[in-house]
Amino acid sequence: MIYFDSAASYPILPEVLSSIEEGFKSYANPSSSHIMGLALSQKVEDVRLQIADSIGALPSEVVFTSGATESNNLAIKGAVFGSGKPFSEIHLVTSQAEHKCVLNIFSYLEGLGCQVSYIKPNAEGVITLQLLEEVVTENTILVSLMHVNNELGVINPIQDIGEFCFDKKIKLHTDAAQSFGKIDIDVMDSYVDFMSLTAHKIGGPKGIGALYIQALRTSNIVPVIHGAGQEEGLRGGTLPAPLILGFGAALSSFQNSYSKINAELEATLLKGLQAKGVRCQINGANAERVKHIVSVTLPDTNPVVFMRNTERDFCLAQGSACSSKEIEPSHVLSSIGLGRDLASKTYRLSFSHETTVDDIKAFVQRVAELIE
Ligand SMILES: *Cc1c(COP(=O)(O)O)cnc(C)c1O
Repeated sequence: MIYFDSAASYPILPEVLSSIEEGFKSYANPSSSHIMGLALSQKVEDVRLQIADSIGALPSEVVFTSGATESNNLAIKGAVFGSGKPFSEIHLVTSQAEHKCVLNIFSYLEGLGCQVSYIKPNAEGVITLQLLEEVVTENTILVSLMHVNNELGVINPIQDIGEFCFDKKIKLHTDAAQSFGKIDIDVMDSYVDFMSLTAHKIGGPKGIGALYIQALRTSNIVPVIHGAGQEEGLRGGTLPAPLILGFGAALSSFQNSYSKINAELEATLLKGLQAKGVRCQINGANAERVKHIVSVTLPDTNPVVFMRNTERDFCLAQGSACSSKEIEPSHVLSSIGLGRDLASKTYRLSFSHETTVDDIKAFVQRVAELIE
């Protein structure tokens, strides 16, 4: 079995497993004020500092959550509910290419009476500053745009967007689940107010993430999960110390793993397909992209036949989700103009340090065998 799905979850790193085990053996509650609690709390704070350092933030600006989905909820709902404005006077901006969880948060806020603009990305899947400028109004209080798109791997110009939002006094949230640990981002330089992070996209455990909140202590953000005062009162619940230690271990080791991803993988795929006469198109090919995600449309494949025949060979994501009876094309592929048919013939391959050129050749071979 070849794993081409690191964008859905990156292979867990060995150092992470041992940290998690150590964390489970230290069973005290990190909020307890006795010696065992304090010792664990110190380790948790070390990871908080490590995360803050990696994005140019202060540790007091980092809140642990259960992952990017929860961080997105806290940033967006927390900022809207904390704004002190009636919903009818709130305008929000996001894009059509965001992760499903972000779109569902905005759809909920629309139900409460907020106005939301969903920017259609350019043909490459990128949200340019110009596209943003066209939709902001004087009621815009928050812009939420992802840093790297999880289906296409394209990078949005967060720095330009951040400078623009700062000038307009609009808060900026970015879902950095796919970019964190992979491309440098400094929250001060790019004027980001909220940034969502998650551990399992960098070789850490599932169920732990963080939200960066600029100047948290003076920010108006309100909690989504009320609790017993943990995390500055912004996110209730006993801190999952084992997962947090695993998150820290992942952050320490990930750079080394990611740097081993062979930059030749995509070229091997393209050359291999062309050599076999298979028509193909890389989506977002003309934009700046991360090296671990390739979205390829193969118009001559029959997606049902292809997926059925290769399910024991490859783990990958196909461009449409079968929800009950209907085949629902990916909203991201739709947003860049792919119709139902081409979207269903689109495959996302995402790589890790374990992916080899031979893995790509095996994929090309199976495609060539199965085209119609
Ligand atoms: C994976 C992913 C998420 C969800 O993260 P969880 O930590 O699993 O909640 C959100 N946004 C993007 C862009 C992602 O790639």
